[in-house]
Amino acid sequence: MARTEIATLGEFGLIEHLTKQISIKNSSTKKGIGDDCAVLDYSGKKTLVTTDLLLEGIHFDLTYMPLKHLGYKSAIVNFSDVYAMNGQPKQITVSLGISKRFSVEDIEEIYSGIQLACDKYGVDLVGGDTTSSLTGLMISITCIGEGEEGKIVYRNTAKNTDLICVSGDLGAAYMGLQLLEREKCVLATSSDVQPDFAGKEYILERQLKPEARKDIIEILAKKNILPTSMIDISDGLSSEIMHICKESNVGCRIYEDKLPIDYVTASMAEEFNMNLATAALNGGEDYELLFTVPLDQYETVSKIPEIRIIGHITEPKFGTLLVTRDGQEFTLKAQGWVHCK
Ligand code: ADP
Ligand code: MG
Repeated sequence: MARTEIATLGEFGLIEHLTKQISIKNSSTKKGIGDDCAVLDYSGKKTLVTTDLLLEGIHFDLTYMPLKHLGYKSAIVNFSDVYAMNGQPKQITVSLGISKRFSVEDIEEIYSGIQLACDKYGVDLVGGDTTSSLTGLMISITCIGEGEEGKIVYRNTAKNTDLICVSGDLGAAYMGLQLLEREKCVLATSSDVQPDFAGKEYILERQLKPEARKDIIEILAKKNILPTSMIDISDGLSSEIMHICKESNVGCRIYEDKLPIDYVTASMAEEFNMNLATAALNGGEDYELLFTVPLDQYETVSKIPEIRIIGHITEPKFGTLLVTRDGQEFTLKAQGWVHCK
């Protein structure tokens, strides 16, 4: 494949090259790329702002993460944070630190992923910054979104007796990562084997090409359900429910047998001899929505196929508990990230 050194275009040439076909989709974007600032107009609406910094070797591994997927995922994780406030992402800025290892074509790949995500979720790319890096690749994306007065959902407003709900299924992205790490180790020791991914597409996609749950926000709005609290699951269910409980000064009971888990995730956990509940509770990178609703919404919420009720909010004195299949209670632990050996 052709390799164009970034030096042949220079910083301004590269920015121009990457951004020339970008067109604006949202009326709140008054000025996009090309001046000292982007100009936004959220007349009457609340503005939501979130940012994420991703470093090569810390947050992603380019031996199995294609650059296009990396671009897509970097945008998605930001959109997910805006949906987690019950908002709509509208603009992003993209800042890149690029080492000499990367060519113009490489950066184009990243941008094609970012633009794919922007097109799918109706977001404008309105600016950024580009600089050289000595060590590796760095991507920082800031997302700006809109929220309606009175409809923004925070973490600190869960109430005793509320139902705890989660979208989609859990632990798949984590098991996908375990699989990729295993195949990477295998490839490092012998060069003539092909990675064995057959039947495992779902967990790989969950790791490499996650989606943000715009659809859940729309479903809840359509059914007139305003969650009492909400967070997106980036570090694992345990860690996120503990954030809600701590911020809201409440406790919780989560039921192990209610955790939504896909069968590919389950079979992969078995193959790795891992505890399935641990993968679902602590895996991370699910980008599902975790939220609470008042108890009287039970009828409505339990009929939504994409949503599972997994427990309920309690008084703070009861603590944050996991109720296992055999009825034992354990205090939830925020294990965060557990790396494979
Ligand atoms: P400044 O000197 O004010 O930082 P730049 O020359 O870095 O301006 O950027 C010029 C324009 O290009 C600005 O609108 C900026 O937002 C945009 N831009 C710079 N880098 C990127 C990037 N990686 N992606 C998208 N837009 C970018
Ligand atoms: Mg700049």
